Amino acid sequence: MQQKTELRTSKYFMELEEHFGAHNYHPLPVVLSKGEGVFLYDVEGQRYFDFLSAYSAVNQGHCHPRIIETLIQQAKELTLTSRAFYSDQLGIYEKYITNYFGYDKVLPMNTGVEAVETAIKLCRKWSYQVKGIPINQAKIVFATGNFHGRTLGVISASNDSSSTSDYGPYMPGYEIIEYNNLESLEAVMSQENVAGFIVEPIQGEAGVVVPNDDYIAQAYAICQKYQCLFIADEVQTGIARTGKLICCEHSQVRPDILILGKALSGGVLPVSAVLADDHIMLTIKPGEHGSTFGGNPLACAVAKTALEVVQDEDLANNAEEMGKIFRSTLLTSLKGSELVTEIRGKGLLNAIEINDAEDSSTAWDLCLQLKDAGLLAKPTHGNIIRFAPPLVIARSQLEQCCEIIATTINNFEHGGVNAEK
Ligand code: PLP
Repeated sequence: MQQKTELRTSKYFMELEEHFGAHNYHPLPVVLSKGEGVFLYDVEGQRYFDFLSAYSAVNQGHCHPRIIETLIQQAKELTLTSRAFYSDQLGIYEKYITNYFGYDKVLPMNTGVEAVETAIKLCRKWSYQVKGIPINQAKIVFATGNFHGRTLGVISASNDSSSTSDYGPYMPGYEIIEYNNLESLEAVMSQENVAGFIVEPIQGEAGVVVPNDDYIAQAYAICQKYQCLFIADEVQTGIARTGKLICCEHSQVRPDILILGKALSGGVLPVSAVLADDHIMLTIKPGEHGSTFGGNPLACAVAKTALEVVQDEDLANNAEEMGKIFRSTLLTSLKGSELVTEIRGKGLLNAIEINDAEDSSTAWDLCLQLKDAGLLAKPTHGNIIRFAPPLVIARSQLEQCCEIIATTINNFEHGGVNAEK
């Protein structure tokens, strides 16, 4: 009995991961064993506000009862058939999601990066079959600072050396232009054989980089002008995170291809999707693309309920309202801070930028202190801290969190109690 209690300490679990797992992550020292709504609990029973939401995958809150109920019920009936056969879940889900986002067709995948890969393939296919680009000449345009996932096909579009170094050779046929720069977009689009532009309407992993207000609308117009596809990677920004169902809605833009993932399942299992109209989607024919798990009955049932929850609980509007309160409260309480240089974001996808070098430990140390104060967040790019709680957060909870963040930062900056730890 004694031994069992000892085994279950945070230290024990951290050592297990360190010893037996690849070292491709650097987690904050907290071992989580339970989630409920906006809260996470560690193995010692300590409760935290979750301000990462599994990188925006649990927009509906941890273990949402309706989503979990669907998971359990469907798991008892049928989990996987492969696409060799029809299922009684796939068509229903496809009808629901296409209607929900307003597209003719959906292609279901699992992880976000698979959906991005699918969109790249679809864009190339369309460019040869519909636009008439000579075979193997298609170019796809990406923006600097992008994060679209970790496969070779996708990191080939990255200019972040921590994603790319020593993984070459890379995929040809890509052009990388500066994010939030319409002149360079127009210059590359006007070249021959450009098939499409893949872009995040807000760059989440880059540190919640919000482009100029007109960027997405103008980029879409440029794509239209040169008959190129405008492809939005809304894996992180989609499903109500930024205060609209998809972030492009803020710019009244309907992407030619829409990529979704993460919160599509409420963080319950990997479910991603590519949405497009028939003239694009039907260029891929049977046998040309797929995935064993893509569109499996369990995923379909869970994703349908996860989307219903977003609508029924009005999560987009809550994100919009709570986001405004979050930014204005912190702007007021951190006024005069020399440590925090910027507070930015849309809806509940926000970040603060720390006045220190990217390779400094300031943001990390601050996150450790936030953890001690009961709030979990993680630095991105060394000097930026993203704040993205589940969208079900209530106003009183959000106000409590703003208080925790402001007090922790002020103490840290002015050497208060927390800073001594
Ligand atoms: N695209 C964007 C914008 C993302 O933020 C991410 C993950 O953070 C991905 C794609 C990759 O998703 P996944 O990790 O599920 O493959």
